[in-house]
Amino acid sequence: MTASLKDLPQIEALLSQPNIAALSQGFSRAETRAALRSVIADLRAALLSTDPPAALPDFAGADFAASVAQRITAARAPSLRPVINATGIIIHTNLGRARLAPQAIAALAAAGADASNLELDLETGKRGSRHAHVERLIRELTGAEAAVVVNNCAAAVLLSLMASAGGRNVVASRGELIEIGGSFRLPDVIAQSGAQLREVGTTNKTRVADYANAIDDNTAVLLKSHTSNFRIVGFTAAPERQALARLARERRVILMEDLGSGVLVDLTPFGLSDEPVVADVLKAGVDLVMFSGDKLLGGPQAGIIAGRQDIVAELKAHPLMRALRIDKLSLAALEATLRLYRAPHDPLREVPVLRMLSAPQETVAARAAALAERLAAVGITDTGTEATSARVGGGTLPEQDLPSVALSLRLEGFTAEALSAALRRGRPPVIGRIAQDRLLLDLRSVEDDELSLIADAFAAILR
Ligand SMILES: *Cc1c(COP(=O)(O)O)cnc(C)c1O
Repeated sequence: MTASLKDLPQIEALLSQPNIAALSQGFSRAETRAALRSVIADLRAALLSTDPPAALPDFAGADFAASVAQRITAARAPSLRPVINATGIIIHTNLGRARLAPQAIAALAAAGADASNLELDLETGKRGSRHAHVERLIRELTGAEAAVVVNNCAAAVLLSLMASAGGRNVVASRGELIEIGGSFRLPDVIAQSGAQLREVGTTNKTRVADYANAIDDNTAVLLKSHTSNFRIVGFTAAPERQALARLARERRVILMEDLGSGVLVDLTPFGLSDEPVVADVLKAGVDLVMFSGDKLLGGPQAGIIAGRQDIVAELKAHPLMRALRIDKLSLAALEATLRLYRAPHDPLREVPVLRMLSAPQETVAARAAALAERLAAVGITDTGTEATSARVGGGTLPEQDLPSVALSLRLEGFTAEALSAALRRGRPPVIGRIAQDRLLLDLRSVEDDELSLIADAFAAILR
């Protein structure tokens, strides 16, 4: 004998039963109703399945009420929560990009908890500017005359083009008209800024003469962009920045560069050679650069604009600045992150993104061994370590792999996909990757203090 659909109770009838009504002490009626709906929907699906249950639960009993309470509690879990990034992609946009240094976290917590001098000049008692809190630091770290910070790099590019080229022409190379994902396409952004795009050169080669020939009385900006997430290799050419800067000066137009990631320290010692240092770009004569706060800089989401004083002054006064400005929590975290680039701090050790990408291979291997030991302690012994390639991610340095080490795992009764899904739904969620039917946990994007959390997540799955 199997139960049938007509044995399923009405939601409203359930709500008035004593066992369910008792839930109103801890939960709202709306939450209880939603949980009951989902329980009944599951039962209905089970009854319609190929293997229907023989009996339904005792809807008036304590066990049923407890299962409803459990469902409400699960539904109450925060939506946005910490996960463990064991993908080996250090700046993973879907996993929140850069992790902040403790100093940055402390600064944003203080800015959130307390009143602050966000827009008050404590010396004069007059209204101050929120931009002032980081401008001096950015100038010091990049050599720029002036700087201003907005919500993200996309906003930085949009605002810079609107203010400098709205109603006029922007000249850009066909090899640099990028799409960055999340629907940021440079030609569309230029159009939205009110400027006209003049494409020059070809996909693989663009020369200074191409830019020069495209400049006319209506040209305002020459725009260079970092091709972030792709590379054109082989028969290619792009002008030196110095040559473009000379051209821009002669023809009285502005040379801008969307750097995307923007690094403040040279990363070539770590095998990462394609990311120009912001200070070098400005020194080469670029008038204005834009870069992200939460990519290789290792800070919060932000868009940093640095360069010529007169251009930055116009940006600060632009009517859309208010709509694009950075919020106080991000500003606090950004200031604290930038301070880590100044002696006696060492950004390679103190900024998590830089620490992860610069960690010696032995450190990553030792972390993999430590994780294997912790997993063995909770009963997972079918593990092995293997050499892998980690990535910086965040659309930066697409062709450059970082040597890394992953723990590969198998678990009795689980396919790699099933194990991956169980970990993703675990507490905390652990995100790895699958290769050749094995789950890989790449340790370059994991920190030592997360190893015990990974072991906890596995222990919960085994239970
Ligand atoms: C990532 C990137 C952006 C967008 O930066 P956000 O901070 O995500 O808005 C813009 N331009 C380039 C070249 C990028 O790589």
